[in-house]
Amino acid sequence: MKKVISVVAPMYNEEKLVQEYCKTTLNTLAAISNIYNVELLLVNDGSKDKTYEKMLLMQQKYMDKISIINLSRNFGLEGAVSAGLKKAKGDAVVVMDADLQDPPALILEMVKKWENGMDIVVASRIKRSNDTLFKKLSAGCYYKVLNFLSGKLKLEKSAANFRLLSRRAVQQILELPEVNRVFRVIVPFIGMKTAVVEYDRDKRFAGKTKYKFASMLRYALDSITSISIEPLRKIVFMAMISFVITIITLLGVLFTQYPWNIACFIVTIVSFLFTLLFMVLTIIGEYIGQIMIEVKKRPTSIINEYLPWQHENSLERKNDK
Ligand code: UDP
Ligand code: MG
Repeated sequence: MKKVISVVAPMYNEEKLVQEYCKTTLNTLAAISNIYNVELLLVNDGSKDKTYEKMLLMQQKYMDKISIINLSRNFGLEGAVSAGLKKAKGDAVVVMDADLQDPPALILEMVKKWENGMDIVVASRIKRSNDTLFKKLSAGCYYKVLNFLSGKLKLEKSAANFRLLSRRAVQQILELPEVNRVFRVIVPFIGMKTAVVEYDRDKRFAGKTKYKFASMLRYALDSITSISIEPLRKIVFMAMISFVITIITLLGVLFTQYPWNIACFIVTIVSFLFTLLFMVLTIIGEYIGQIMIEVKKRPTSIINEYLPWQHENSLERKNDK
């Protein structure tokens, strides 16, 4: 039986590009249709326009290729991706934006890497020649902050949602019980063999971006808080800075004359109080962080392979039973 490749595409108010997305992607994937069965899984994320109707038309045209999920309202990109992962039938599942900013041709490269034994293939945007200066700058800052706070997680450079996951990887992600899921952060969390393919991000085919400044900021905060408790731990640096100021101004009290020693004295008191305050916040932060870890119930580790020993003891034990 042929293996199945599912391509999940979340859509919110994208009536102008449903048809073009399906056509372009299916045409591209025709190149591998003799080896694989292809499933385009369109997720309608509570669109208010005719996106769903357009999806149904496409399904009538390509009955054996298109599946549709219609969400009960707009849940946001992450909710739509999760729904797609739940229903995708593929042995490999690709998640991509539907606006053709993620070039479907890259899927062929991703599938090759998957066939070579990779569980995850991440598409990394080496260039953003078609993005605005603001988008380039804000994305640059976002990935820098995310990397700084990522602790032991290895995040691929400039990688968003365009990724291929093996069935094993999809299963792992579905088993994570957390609700606030940020796809680009939980994929690195599960680890597994990962490869990167690079691309230049295209222009949106039609319609407008759904991420204005406020929603981008909210998304960035969601990613940061879901990546680790590192931001809370960084409060300790504030305590250190205050402590250094306390020491410097204390030297000022001891070695300067009136009125500088008075000014230094006041700053010493204030920075000392701030040091105490930040230390207390560090402790509270640590507890809140631990609560967050417990609440998320992420597994403490994920076993990739287990190769038990072939020792005679293990055989004897088996025979004892
Ligand atoms: N999207 C979605 N639900 C939302 C917002 C966006 O399913 O609430 C989809 C959207 O239709 C598109 C993808 O997520 O397929 C990426 O959105 P967009 O292109 O607006 O983001 P940008 O590329 O500007 O970051
Ligand atoms: Mg886009």
